[in-house]
Amino acid sequence: MDFALPGDDDPRRQQVRSWLEAHPEPSPRELAEAGYVAPHWPRPWGLEADPITQLLIDEEIKRAGISRPFNMIGTGWAGPTILHAGSQEQKDRYLMPILTGEEMWCQLFSEPEAGSDLANLSTRAVREGDHYVINGQKIWTSLAHESQLGILLARTDPSAPKHEGISYFICPMDTPGITIRPILDMTGMHSFNEVFLENVRLPASNLVGEENKGWSLAKVTLGNERVSISGRGAIWGQGSTAADLIEVAKSAGGLKDPAMRQRLAKLYIESEILRLIILRTVTAAVKGEQPGPEASVRKLLSDEHGKRLLNLAKDLAGAGGMLANRGPLGTEPGWWDFGFLFTPAITLAGGTAEVQRNILAERVLGLPREVDPDEGVPWSERGRQATTTLNG
Ligand SMILES: Cc1cc2nc3c(=O)[nH]c(=O)nc-3n(C[C@H](O)[C@H](O)[C@H](O)COP(=O)(O)OP(=O)(O)OC[C@H]3O[C@@H](n4cnc5c(N)ncnc54)[C@H](O)[C@@H]3O)c2cc1C
Repeated sequence: MDFALPGDDDPRRQQVRSWLEAHPEPSPRELAEAGYVAPHWPRPWGLEADPITQLLIDEEIKRAGISRPFNMIGTGWAGPTILHAGSQEQKDRYLMPILTGEEMWCQLFSEPEAGSDLANLSTRAVREGDHYVINGQKIWTSLAHESQLGILLARTDPSAPKHEGISYFICPMDTPGITIRPILDMTGMHSFNEVFLENVRLPASNLVGEENKGWSLAKVTLGNERVSISGRGAIWGQGSTAADLIEVAKSAGGLKDPAMRQRLAKLYIESEILRLIILRTVTAAVKGEQPGPEASVRKLLSDEHGKRLLNLAKDLAGAGGMLANRGPLGTEPGWWDFGFLFTPAITLAGGTAEVQRNILAERVLGLPREVDPDEGVPWSERGRQATTTLNG
């Protein structure tokens, strides 16, 4: 396998370059309409780009110093689910504003009693004529306070076993009955929220796919989430990489402490393994194969890699780094310090590291499945202390 992308003379690369020359400061809408926000999406929203073309476009956009509109949940996992199962009307209404960033999306899945065991969710949706009436509580809803729309899971049939009575909705966040309360994390940032839904009336046309078939769509969403948030940067693929920390160490004249050197070398090796796993996913996709076990390995490795990287950066800030905002080896704290404080979240969101290991154990290694005493039992009659099944 050739690990390098095609060079400057590749016609696909040249085509993107010419477009960028003609549009040196493209608006979000221009980028979206050219298909450059999600090139792998089908037309008219994307370019049906194969993964190599997609990587080439990513490289060229980065080289031109252009940022795509920020809408992580919209572009990363709500949009792909609507593409997969939405009606034509839903695709026409929602996909372009996702790509342009004109409508931000959040994900109303987790609840106080339904995190890893997501199928235990108890938010209820009751059909009344041409509406559903929703009551319940969501938690950890990232960006709810900045979003116009959310993807929402709610239980439409409590008499069915827990995975079978769930439906998938599109929820405008300004619908009467929605209350959003901020939760501050320990970086001091307000990124997630509690969301309370009290007699929230959603038109039946906001149901995605069929009633009671929402669990299979939730799995599509979670699959896309796991791939979207697992790149080489320390926080879900974004931000500093092991190569950045090596540059910091080099600029400071190298590391004298052999234990620190060893940790940095290990991180570099890990980041190379991660790069190859990502390329393996790409290669499989080029061959038309679905992502295999490497997608779960990739999510688990990249989360834990991010944690180790930010912990080492903090250790390299020295003892003073415990008390003050300080970057590694006397650098500006910037992203490093924030990243360190954020690290506990990295292995939780999108399915915890333990849950990923369970998935690998059961679906890759073929070990016996975790026992769920509520398997097949109507959700309304489940044992309250049920052990969890897996988020996804
Ligand atoms: C930064 C951040 C952003 C988030 N954003 C969103 C969002 O936008 N929308 C949304 O819906 N949710 C969001 N979440 C919630 C996230 O999906 C849940 O936190 C996650 O699924 C874990 O659920 P929980 O917090 O209820 O923990 P629990 O499920 O209660 O787990 C507690 C601990 O027990 C372990 N555990 C649980 N079950 C098992 C098992 N079967 N085997 C082994 N260990 C197990 C877990 O690994 C964990 O360590 C976000 C979380 C974070 C941290």
